[in-house]
Order: sequence, then structure tokens, then C-alpha cells
Amino acid sequence: MALTGVQIFKLLPKTNCKKCGFPTCLAFAMKLAQGGIDLSACPDVSEEAKKTLGEASAPPIRTFALGAGDSAVKMGGETVLFRHDKKFINPCALAVNLKDSLGDDGLAKMAADVAGSEIDRVGQKLRVDAISIEYASGDSAKYAAAVKLVADKAPHAALILNCRDAAAAGAAAKAVSERKPLMYCATDETAETMAAIAKENGLPLAACADGLEALSALTEKIKGLGVEDIVLDSGAKTAREIIENNTQIRRAALRKSFKPLGYPIINFVLRDDPVLEASVAAVAIAKYASIVVVSSIEKWKNLVLFTLRQNLYTDPQVPMQVEQKVYDINEPTADSPLMITTNFSLTYFIVSGEIENSKVPSRLAVMDCEGLSVLTAWAAGKFTAAKIAAFIKESGIEAQVSNKELIIPGQVAILSGALEDKLEGWKITVGPREANAIPTFLKGR
Ligand code: SF4
Repeated sequence: MALTGVQIFKLLPKTNCKKCGFPTCLAFAMKLAQGGIDLSACPDVSEEAKKTLGEASAPPIRTFALGAGDSAVKMGGETVLFRHDKKFINPCALAVNLKDSLGDDGLAKMAADVAGSEIDRVGQKLRVDAISIEYASGDSAKYAAAVKLVADKAPHAALILNCRDAAAAGAAAKAVSERKPLMYCATDETAETMAAIAKENGLPLAACADGLEALSALTEKIKGLGVEDIVLDSGAKTAREIIENNTQIRRAALRKSFKPLGYPIINFVLRDDPVLEASVAAVAIAKYASIVVVSSIEKWKNLVLFTLRQNLYTDPQVPMQVEQKVYDINEPTADSPLMITTNFSLTYFIVSGEIENSKVPSRLAVMDCEGLSVLTAWAAGKFTAAKIAAFIKESGIEAQVSNKELIIPGQVAILSGALEDKLEGWKITVGPREANAIPTFLKGR
């Protein structure tokens, strides 16, 4: 039975040391009771307390990693049904399915495509996270070799052993066990053998059943066999089935604390039509999948799915920000223009993009305004003459420029007088109001 915050509090060290990120043990206990955090966040909790809290303190959706080291993708740990309730925590992994019958060259090329899929979008690195290697050849030696080849060619990708043949899966699991691949999958018939392989190699195991009742029974069976890290496949294939089943799983885990369904979900959305596949993948990303497996990757498809995933997994209460510093653009020299803006990601990428387009060597001073845009930061008192002056002085930029001129956004032209008073010896120039006028402005100087 779930414990209350006060019951949990009694079992904590009560030192209020803040190591868990909460100001007091009571605040941590309350959060733990709501299922919003893992007990392991308190490093000082006693073994006795761990034992007593046991299942009651476990997060409603089990958290563990797909893959190991650099390639590890954290899954599970979600605490809400809707992003606007708080936020979604661990972005789903995007995986591509490769058949072992593809041949060495085909597998190597696809693995290289995955390895090269990374893009930078608003300051975050986004990529295809995992490769599912499907046992299509019917030859276990060939399968193990294909898995090893893919693992070598894509060292930063997590691996999924898509193989229902226990003997072939066991050999492949041994070959790449240090990469902690997900074994996909155990059915009611193969649960014992697959669980034994997963347990022996310390790997997560996917449970695959038709419908949620059978799936719940299967996860209980696998757990009873000693495997804790389980991924759910309810057999959903169509967009409608994915929405229905994934939603019921998330609701059961969060609203009913139903442990047999408190695990991350995997959806295979393989389709011949890439547009249809991208659409169904988008449904799975939006509705609770932790791993989405597609049949092919292409730049346009990656971009669509990366963007959707990134937008869903940002915290709606925290604007996206870039680092406060002075950015060099187009290889500036000492007499290059110096512009300033705030650290809202979108503002930074639009302004820096326009400066890049101008081809004029420049510097862009980006000031920490808690991720607010220029006008909002000004209205909130975070982009004021005094604060800008302090930032410019502390940045050390004065030593790198020969002409002490600072170009401020046209929207805050009102700051120019006060800024000249605060920044002694500097000339303040008012730049364009809109970013798209920056190239003309810079070229015309
Ligand atoms: S880390 Fe543990 S002891 Fe420290 S404040 Fe958090 S709950 Fe209390």
C-alpha cells in the first residue's frame, strides 16, 4: 500500500542536507509520496528505510537505461499524463530496424547513417538513438555477426536485439552484453528462457503480448523470474491501437499505481510508406512511447520526429536558453561590430542566423535573462541599462575590441541614454527592431 508523505518522512535521515535537491527532508518525502521522484535521490537513506519503503517508494513507471555509457538513453520515470500538468521527463528513444539479412555492406551503411544522424537544434544535440537488429536470416551465427558489426559501426547507438529465437538471442546478447541491449522480446511461451538470458547478462527485456490483460500477466511472470527492467509491447500497431493502449497503460500506472504496467513502452511503427510511418511514429511519440522503432531513417523524417520530440519534452515552465557569453560569428577582428541580445534560444538563433547571413564578421553578446526574449526581459527588469553594463564589464570583451561600440536591439532603444551613462567610454548604437533587418544594417555600416 502506498505510504503518505509523513510516513515516508519518518524513515528519512531528517538532516535537511539538500543533497536530493529539495530544501528539506519533508519536501522530499512529499514528492516521493506523489511518485514524482526516486528514493535513490537521497544518498543517505538507510538500508532499513529502503527495505521498509520498498515498492511503496518506487516511481509509478520504472526508470532504467536503454544501452550503456555514451549510448545510454534513460527511459520511464514519467509522472504526468499531460505535459501541461508539469512536464514529460525522459524523451523517447528513436530507433531504426535493420534486418540481419541486409548483408555486411548494407548493415554498415545503415549503422553509419545512424551514427551520422546527429543534428544541433536550438542548442541541443538530437539523433537517432538506437538500432534494432531483426533476426530475419534464420541463421543464429549470421545474426550474432550482424549484431556485432552494427555495434562496432555505431558505437554510440543503443541496441535492440529483435529476435524471438532464444538460442540466437542468447548468442547475440553475449556478444554485445557490455552495450546493455534491450532483448526483444519474451512472450508467454518464451518468458522463462528469455528471462534467464536477460538475467544472466543483466539486460532489460521486452514483454510482448496481445492486449493489456495478457501483458500484465506476462510482466508479473517475468518479474517473478528475476528481471526488473521490463519494456512493454501491447501488440499495438495502428495509430488508434497505439493511442488507446499507450494511454491505458500510462493511466493505469499513474492513476491506479498498477505496477504490472508501470514500465516504459516500445512501439514498432514499421510501414512501407515513409510518410505514413512518420505519422504513426509521431502518434507514438506524442502518446507515451519510450522507444519508437521505424523501418528507415531519412533526414526529413528525422527532423520532423526530432522536432516533435524536442518540443514535447521541454519544460513548458522553463524557456529554452543558451549559455551567457560573447559569441564570435564570421571570424571577427578587434574592430568588428558588437551586438547584444538576451539568452532566449529562439532569439539567439534568429539573431545569430541573420548575422551569419550578413557575412559581416561580428560579435554577439548574449546576456542571461532567464531565457526571456528582449522585450519581455526588459519589461521584467532583467535587461536594464545597469544589468547590461555590468554584464559587458564582467565579460572582459572590452579588452578584445578596438572601438568601444555596443549595438543594442531597436526594441529597447529607450535604454541607449542610460546605458551610455553606465558604460563610460562606450558608444551605444541602436540596431534594427527586427532581426531580418540585421544583414542590411551591418553591411551598411
Ligand atoms: S538528501 Fe536525504 S537527508 Fe538530505 S535533505 Fe534530501 S531527503 Fe533529507
